[in-house]
Amino acid sequence: MKTYRSWVEVDLSAIEHNVKELMTLLSSKEQFMAVVKANAYGHGAIEVCHTLNKIGVYAFATATLFEAIELRKNGIQGQILILGYTEPSLVYLLKKYQLTQTVINSTYAKLVNAQGIDIPVHIAIDSGMHRLGNTQEEFDDIASLFHLPYLHVTGIFSHLCVSDSINIENQDYTRKQIYTFINIVDKLKKRYDVGCVHLQSSYGLLNYSYLNFDYVRIGISLYGVYSSKEDYQNPHIHFKPALSLKSKIVLLKSIQKDETVGYGRTYKATQKRKIAVVPIGYGDGLPRCFAHDVLVRGKRVPIVGRICMDQLMIDVSEVDNVSLFDIVTFIGEDHGEKISVEDIAEHVHSISNEILSQLGERLPRIYQGGHYERTL
Ligand SMILES: *Cc1c(COP(=O)(O)O)cnc(C)c1O
Repeated sequence: MKTYRSWVEVDLSAIEHNVKELMTLLSSKEQFMAVVKANAYGHGAIEVCHTLNKIGVYAFATATLFEAIELRKNGIQGQILILGYTEPSLVYLLKKYQLTQTVINSTYAKLVNAQGIDIPVHIAIDSGMHRLGNTQEEFDDIASLFHLPYLHVTGIFSHLCVSDSINIENQDYTRKQIYTFINIVDKLKKRYDVGCVHLQSSYGLLNYSYLNFDYVRIGISLYGVYSSKEDYQNPHIHFKPALSLKSKIVLLKSIQKDETVGYGRTYKATQKRKIAVVPIGYGDGLPRCFAHDVLVRGKRVPIVGRICMDQLMIDVSEVDNVSLFDIVTFIGEDHGEKISVEDIAEHVHSISNEILSQLGERLPRIYQGGHYERTL
């Protein structure tokens, strides 16, 4: 870590642990599909997928074609489903890298079919989120997909939009979505082979674990965190957060009463203060409005002044023996104190998913616990 300016530490054994915990909610028929879009929610998709391959996970989902190609180029085995739109003119790449494309609706299906290239597809169904897929009312359009000569339907899925909520109305809405989806699938099954069926993402599994489809598509909980602190936490599942975010003090200075720190002079010292410069900023993916405390030598200290693109300043006056190159923890543990990504998400009115997926390429990922090491 000595040579790094700021970095992300990923505990791959925590990811293995989380998969095993989540597996306890699956029937023997259900399989695990790991959602590794946005660089595996900031954790590093290649290393996460290699770790998962080693423990027997052979189904992955990305958001984009190029995320999927990167996995193949790095030797990831198994099915890779692209959950989002891919340009029809790039369909040849799906074939070349053996990827499975989501059919986002019947209009899109015709454009893809017109490329004249055989590819496997999963059909997205709109069961009530009103994002991808055709709806129940468009059943004939959905059925027509099975007649397109170049598209081989190997799966069908939908997505729940309020499965994270345990509010009664939202539970009703989720049950309606489940019912709608099952209805469409059953009707199709009378005439066609629909392939594998899947509906639940992390909260679909955590809150509706009695469901029993072929796959579950697990993103955020794979990484051992909840989207938000308010979410219902399944008491049988014990996650281990896999990611820590750290930097270090690269400069220490004293400022006098009434002196200010940073752009806009938004912080003004009310007495003599010891200030440290930390080389991380919004250009690394920290939200600019991030005003959460950070940890130095196990003590919580505040960020002072505005966060810059590449640096920020903290007030270390209260830290005993503070020294140059002391580690600064933004997410993770230090001497028994802890800051979770959920704490930060709450603080900036977001969700863990956003904070993690924003962590930039400028931050090297340091892996522990797994058997996989990336050279920098
Ligand atoms: C992102 C995504 C997931 C994973 O969701 P989590 O809540 O992170 O588990 C699953 N399915 C689809 C279609 C998605 O877009």
